[in-house]
Parts: sequence; structure tokens; C-alpha cells
Amino acid sequence: MADEILVVAESRNQQLAPSTAEVVTAAQKLAADTGAELRLLALEGPAEDLCAALAGFQSAGVLRARHEALAAYSPEAYTQALVQVLSRRQPRYVLFAHSYRTRDFAPRLATRMGRAFISDVTAVRVENGRTIASRPMFEGRLAADTVFLGEPPYFLSVQIGVFRGDQAARAAAPVAISDEAVTPAAGPGKTEAPFQEAKHAVDLTQAAVIVAVGRGIKEAKNLELAQKLAAALGGEIAASRPICDSGWLPMDRQVGSSGQTVAPKLYVAVGVSGAIQHLVGMKGSRAVVAINKDPEAPIFEVADVGAVGDLFEIVPALTAEIEKLRQG
Ligand SMILES: Cc1cc2nc3c(=O)[nH]c(=O)nc-3n(C[C@H](O)[C@H](O)[C@H](O)COP(=O)(O)OP(=O)(O)OC[C@H]3O[C@@H](n4cnc5c(N)ncnc54)[C@H](O)[C@@H]3O)c2cc1C
Repeated sequence: MADEILVVAESRNQQLAPSTAEVVTAAQKLAADTGAELRLLALEGPAEDLCAALAGFQSAGVLRARHEALAAYSPEAYTQALVQVLSRRQPRYVLFAHSYRTRDFAPRLATRMGRAFISDVTAVRVENGRTIASRPMFEGRLAADTVFLGEPPYFLSVQIGVFRGDQAARAAAPVAISDEAVTPAAGPGKTEAPFQEAKHAVDLTQAAVIVAVGRGIKEAKNLELAQKLAAALGGEIAASRPICDSGWLPMDRQVGSSGQTVAPKLYVAVGVSGAIQHLVGMKGSRAVVAINKDPEAPIFEVADVGAVGDLFEIVPALTAEIEKLRQG
């Protein structure tokens, strides 16, 4: 029997989280490289239906583990349900999105099964029959190649924003859905609302265009300049850490090692120096435009287009040009 790769889907407000498509892209590549069969697993409550969306991806099948105890996320119920499914199916690889939820339950799951868990993976490749997973170390200064030791299943969480969800191969016709019986029980703890879905929180990981502001903006009142540029581009505003530390923008707008990791189509860095802790959160962007008065600023090392000059001149002029184009 062929080895199996299982992707554990993630839900958000009863819908499939966009990060699941990214994990499917990574898993489809791993399946092509290893010859393993890919299946997609949904843990859901009685009122949920993630499987219909999962059936649209190219895979060898969708598995539905449905139970009352899974209606609201609980680390214990998730762990128990997954232990039951994985003990029966014995997959070789189990992939998750590296979300807050995964960070909560996956270490517990791997520990309970006595298996290894490689987290925050940015690339997977197969060399001489060995599967090698790269993950960042030391705030992204190094990418470490890691291999699994011991018996499968091997647990992997995939960094959000690295693989493109829109590149996940779609099925010509919906793939078959089958049931996986599970009998989990929620633990004694009470699960609070998910961190990322806190009121007013913004999910920058899904933004197509981001205008990020750094200390070059000088004062909170000048943020308006960048906000106008973001509005003209139809994008979200983000910032380096000092801007959020000063309370000029909320923490959920921070990009970097202690903020969000983003991979928009366009990232415009305005008065951002490009410290390593910032770069690690945005270097997966498809196109980077940097505006900085210092030609030696490290942000230019990752920029596709750079403008050396005063942002207070460049940003309003750029905004006006974009608005003209949009109106024309
Ligand atoms: C443990 C740890 C975690 C961290 N996590 C993060 C993180 O998640 N995200 C993050 O961003 N940082 C993080 N940092 C901080 C990081 O090291 C940098 O200090 C920070 O990114 C610098 O922010 P900045 O680029 O806005 O400011 P600065 O480094 O001060 O750069 C400002 C830039 O603006 C330019 N500038 C000034 N005036 C103008 C003008 N008029 N026109 C054009 N350009 C101008 C300057 O040339 C300069 O390059 C972390 C640090 C540590 C130690």
C-alpha cells in the first residue's frame, strides 16, 4: 500500500481557513516527490461542512471526522480525535498550517504519539530518499535543514504565506468524502476565542497589497500619508515594530519575527530600514517596493524597485499618480 500524506484542514468561523489551501500546495508537492497518496482531513462539529470545500482540491480522498466535541476548538478533543484517526491510518506525513491553533495542539499530539514535529517549515524536498524540511532559525538569519528520525507519522507545520494557496491543484470533479469515526472528549479546560480572530484584528497574511510604515514616518499624524497610499492601492497598512510599540498602530499590524509573516503580491516599505527581524516577516512578498532616504538601507537588498529619497515627497506624489491612473 502506498504511503499516505494527511493534511489536517483548519476552520475559521465554520469555513475553511485560507491557509489550508497553502498546506495543500505543499502537500501536493510532497506527494509528487514521494509517490505518497494525499488525503485531506477535516475535524468538524455536527453543523460544519469543511469537506465540500476540501473535495475541490486534487487528492486521493477527503476524510470527515465529525463529532459534537469538535464543534468548538479544544486542544484535548483535537488531540484525541487525531490520535484515533492516525493510529488507524498510519500515515507517513501529517501536515498542518503553522497557525496559532496548530501551535496549541500539535506539540501535544506529537508528544502523545511519541513522534517528531518539525514546525514553521518553509520548504520540503526529497534527497536520496530522505525528506528534508527547512525551517528558520535565529530570527530567520539561517534556514536549517532538518530530517525526521524514528518512526512515522512525521508531523510538519507549514509557515503561512510561503506556499501559494492559489497554486493548489484543483480536482476535475469533487473527490470522494468518507467518514472517520472518532469519539473525542473535550478536556477540562475552557478555550478562549482564538488570538487572531480577536475583535478588530486584521489578518495581514491574506492581504494582496501591504503598505508598511517604519520610523522614517517620524510622527503618528504622518501615518495618514501611508494610509492614503494604501487606500489608493486597495491595500492594508502595516508597520515595523517601533511604530506598533509606540501605539501609533495596533500590534496586529506589525510585520516581522514578533509580528505577522506576510506574503502579499505587493509590499511597499515606507521609511523602513529593513532590520532582519522585519525582513523575516516580509521577504516572501512577490514584489517589494522600498522608499528610503538612505541608499545603504538593508531593505533595498530585498527590494525589486527602490526609490532613494524623502518619503514626504515621494509618497504623496506616488499616491496622486496612482489615483490618476485609477480614475483614468
Ligand atoms: C527580539 C526582537 C524582535 C523584533 N521583532 C520585530 C518585528 O517583528 N518587526 C520589526 O519590524 N522589528 C522587530 N524588531 C526591531 C528591529 O530590530 C528594528 O529595530 C526595527 O525593525 C526598525 O524599525 P524601522 O525600520 O521602522 O526603524 P529604523 O531602523 O529606525 O529605520 C527607519 C528608516 O527610515 C528611513 N528614513 C528616515 N527618514 C526618512 C525620510 N524622510 N524619507 C525616507 N526614509 C526615511 C531611515 O533611512 C531608516 O532606514 C525586533 C527586535 C528584536 C530585538
